[in-house]
Amino acid sequence: MTHTVGILGATGAVGQRLIQLLDPHLDFEIEALTASSESAGKPYRKAAKWRISTPIPESVADITVAETDPDAIDNDIDLLFSSLPSAVGERVESDFCEAGYLVSSNSSNQRMAEDVPLVIPEVNADHLGLLEVQRDERGWDGAMVKNPNCSTITMVPTLAALDEFGLSRVHVATLQAVSGAGYDGVTSMEIIDNAIPHIGGEEEKMESESKKLLGGFDGAELSMHDAAVSASCNRIPTLDGHLENVWVEAEEDMTAEDAREAMESYESADLPSSPDPLIRVFEEPERPQPRLDRERENGMQICAGGLRESESGLQYNCLAHNTLRGAAGASVLNGELLAKEGYL
Ligand code: NAP
Repeated sequence: MTHTVGILGATGAVGQRLIQLLDPHLDFEIEALTASSESAGKPYRKAAKWRISTPIPESVADITVAETDPDAIDNDIDLLFSSLPSAVGERVESDFCEAGYLVSSNSSNQRMAEDVPLVIPEVNADHLGLLEVQRDERGWDGAMVKNPNCSTITMVPTLAALDEFGLSRVHVATLQAVSGAGYDGVTSMEIIDNAIPHIGGEEEKMESESKKLLGGFDGAELSMHDAAVSASCNRIPTLDGHLENVWVEAEEDMTAEDAREAMESYESADLPSSPDPLIRVFEEPERPQPRLDRERENGMQICAGGLRESESGLQYNCLAHNTLRGAAGASVLNGELLAKEGYL
């Protein structure tokens, strides 16, 4: 069955990736696109500065971009994907839910709210049950599910795989691509020949979102995982693909070989966009690399490598495509989960 969908913030970096993924999707059909007032009223091909190497799909090129307002789009749309800037999402996503829409959002607002499920389907699909709590508490006909920050998504599936050993402490240092900041995020003068050891709010997001994703859900409330997580986030001059160095301590003994087996056998989800295997583990110590490995499985696979035992616990590297697995693909996966679980 095909579901009609719309995209809020369709002209941006993540919005374009959503179009790239949804246009050929067999279960979803794009019917509405929204953006800021500057883009509203224009055909999509004129409103969007298209920056993906494949052309704008014909199915969306002539759709007129609407204002980002529930009254501006048809109310027979089954699901909205949101890639709005956080401050805008904070203001308007609730209005869409109140108006009866289901929203799969990539925007960082409300990710840590107690009644908002923050979901990576391969890690914590059961947290989707929180939607019923959210509807009860907020009196909405619609509802919102969030996907985490791109740097969090890169690391958490590997942590979920290792949690069978009882994670107690996680340190992570990131090397993040410029596309993670959006088109207007980092100027060339800032980033060429450089590395920036600060990304506003990113470290706090990695620390808190990881614990929510790895936490439990008893049908009514979430509990946070009790591992200590500390992150250091750096912007580097790659275009796409976040690479991360991770150190993990666990309650039980865990060798590098144990960790490799746990990651390789960690289950993917039975959803169209979930890759199998979910985590590809490299033997070569110099892999994964952003340019070589970010496009694996349509940019949806998590890559890991460099597993070794060190004095600070198990050490490894992981990588994921930040605008695909880390943003647009993550929202699409959550949309597929909503469809599978009968919410649409
Ligand atoms: P972006 O390139 O700046 O795009 C922002 C989109 O929102 C555009 O469609 C823009 O429309 C629209 N917009 C801006 N102001 C608006 C307003 N006042 N009302 C309605 N629409 C408005 O940003 P992005 O990189 O795609 O990021 C979008 C969201 O995803 C952010 O919350 C970001 O934190 C999150 N995210 C991004 C990444 C990544 O790798 N880039 C990863 C994970 C999460 P106009 O074109 O008309 O201005």
